[in-house]
Amino acid sequence: MESAARSVFRAYYYGEIRTPILEETQLFARGVGADTDIVTKEMYSFEDRDGSSLTLRPENTAAVIRAYIEHRLDQRPGVQKLYYIGPMFRRERPQKGRYRQFYQIGAEAIGSESPVVDAEVIEMVVELLNRAGLTGFKLLINSVGDQNCRPQYVELLRRELKQAAPQMCGDCQRRADTNPLRVLDCKVEADQPVIERLPTIVDHLCAACRAHFEAVKQYLDDRGIEYEARPRLVRGLDYYMRTTFEVVHGALGAQNSVLGGGRYDGLAGASGFPSARTAW
Ligand SMILES: [Zn+2]
Ligand SMILES: [Zn+2]
Repeated sequence: MESAARSVFRAYYYGEIRTPILEETQLFARGVGADTDIVTKEMYSFEDRDGSSLTLRPENTAAVIRAYIEHRLDQRPGVQKLYYIGPMFRRERPQKGRYRQFYQIGAEAIGSESPVVDAEVIEMVVELLNRAGLTGFKLLINSVGDQNCRPQYVELLRRELKQAAPQMCGDCQRRADTNPLRVLDCKVEADQPVIERLPTIVDHLCAACRAHFEAVKQYLDDRGIEYEARPRLVRGLDYYMRTTFEVVHGALGAQNSVLGGGRYDGLAGASGFPSARTAW
């Protein structure tokens, strides 16, 4: 898998980046999102001798962007294409196929707002799965909007959830208040019929987000890549905007995600780091 990944990344002109396994806890709390499962339940954090808080990296995007800013990679010309392969750590409930130290492969294309970059990242991972010999997987795509249109949609969702949430699981009841978008991501079987009736974000995108999403789909069509638009697909991290995608496989059961990714612009309060990414 790793050697297939390295050769596909090379073909798409991605270079390897290695970030430290330990980072300041704040980086993930801010970068990944304070109300995500990763930050609230799953991080291995501990106090260093000087009293500062360190965390074993639960994912690598926040650290890649930190390195990008700190080492002025934005001064280099063109889109920066970076990939990583290495151990990540999450204190998840033990379950089949999940380990608390796991190996993740990921890629980031930083510095372009063009939907063609989103499509290229998706094409690249489909190519990688094909080359690794995986068959029968399904590509799902969606748009989660941006700062312009998402807040109104989240408000609408919040109003709808006033009625619906009391019948839902504990996590959904909490998120209905703190982070309504994440309700859509709930995997609890009994909640699915309720989620199916909630309004979708694709019906509430602003003109710019709609155009971006249409362009991504057009570029995928042009590349001959099959996909299914899933209007309730949101990813488990706060930083996504516009494009999100996921590759699922029927043979994997409830935890059916092979990989996922999307676009984010403006991580950690900074603006102007438009990037398309993927990780699995
Ligand atoms: Zn739920
Ligand atoms: Zn928008």
